[in-house]
Amino acid sequence: MTSPFAKRVQSISIEGAYGTLGKARALEAQGRDIVHLEIGQPDYSTPQHVVESAYQAMQEGHTKYTFPSGTLETRETIARKAGDQRDMTVSAEEIVVGPGAKPLLFLPCLALVEPGDEVIMPDPGFPTYRDSVLVAGGVPVPVELDRMRGFDLQKLEARISDRTRMIILNSPSNPTGGVTSAEDLETIAKLAKKHDTWVLSDEIYSRLVYDDEARTIATLPGMRERTIVLDGFSKTYSMPGWRLGYAIVPQALAERLAVLLVHAVGCTADFTQVAGMSALEGDQSQPERMREEYKERRNKTVVALNEIPGVSCDLPQGAFYVFPDVRSFGRSSREIADFLLDDAGVALLPGTDFGEGGEGFLRISYATAWERIELGIERIKSGLAKFA
Ligand code: PLP
Repeated sequence: MTSPFAKRVQSISIEGAYGTLGKARALEAQGRDIVHLEIGQPDYSTPQHVVESAYQAMQEGHTKYTFPSGTLETRETIARKAGDQRDMTVSAEEIVVGPGAKPLLFLPCLALVEPGDEVIMPDPGFPTYRDSVLVAGGVPVPVELDRMRGFDLQKLEARISDRTRMIILNSPSNPTGGVTSAEDLETIAKLAKKHDTWVLSDEIYSRLVYDDEARTIATLPGMRERTIVLDGFSKTYSMPGWRLGYAIVPQALAERLAVLLVHAVGCTADFTQVAGMSALEGDQSQPERMREEYKERRNKTVVALNEIPGVSCDLPQGAFYVFPDVRSFGRSSREIADFLLDDAGVALLPGTDFGEGGEGFLRISYATAWERIELGIERIKSGLAKFA
């Protein structure tokens, strides 16, 4: 029988993290203790003043439709704060607010990618990139990473052509935690200009950078008019379930995205937008505390993983993931991840959930209490010993 579904949804799939989480929950329902190292969300609560501002906003009637790409006040606040963070002057007309960063990844693909257009993306990389491009009818062009550095620039240069419509950058990276250097961003910018491509710069982890610094390609000469900067509140302010994100884009694209938003979602919840403003303008001590805590966990996690025979783990500069190399075990990442969940009771993701370039690696999130991470690493150690 032919599929009842349109072609555009036949080749896309649910993010691997949700599949693993479902399996882990099923084991927990049977009474097993599972250490969760698969989840890419902060273990902190949303700051209390942010919760209170949303509650108050609801009481005050912020419960109606807003302009599809956000209220003027929200866009002005984001323009100022996100601009200051990046040393950019941004106007409210260049800001698009959406229910999470994800729609602002998906909708620009619909707005810019014609069927057959190629889109370069990191491999391993966040799975939404590939699937958004596929839904738009585009051709995903995965380009390998050079470990913690970001794109392998030689490979990028070999794959870019006049068929390339867009390059997707993600620094700090999910899943590797790698941060792209200023020098590499300059090379990528030159390539984007030479081949007249758009750049979608996913900067959702831009406030979670440790010894290095966060940078954006958007401030390089000639890049502003071809760049979509994507950021949001899920990671920085521990607000993943609120669904609030934004993009900084050229005004003409902002107008097109508003049209897509009005039909796809209407608008982002008004009281959520108020909460976002209070997150940006209020006390920044929680994001700072989280960053300090993550940095400490990252350091301890990398040391502990490198003590496991056969495991090699680089020190990532950002996000809250480590990406250890387990190639020495001679098994696929999927086999190892499944075994560690079923046998050792630790949920983590195979690198291949992020593309073929992730084969031989595992993604571990350290956005969970150190005691649980420590227990998880002990379990990984004894589980892997059975493979050695
Ligand atoms: N981009 C990357 C690299 C992510 O890891 C995530 C969330 O995991 C997102 C975008 C989406 O974030 P949001 O919760 O704002 O939709």
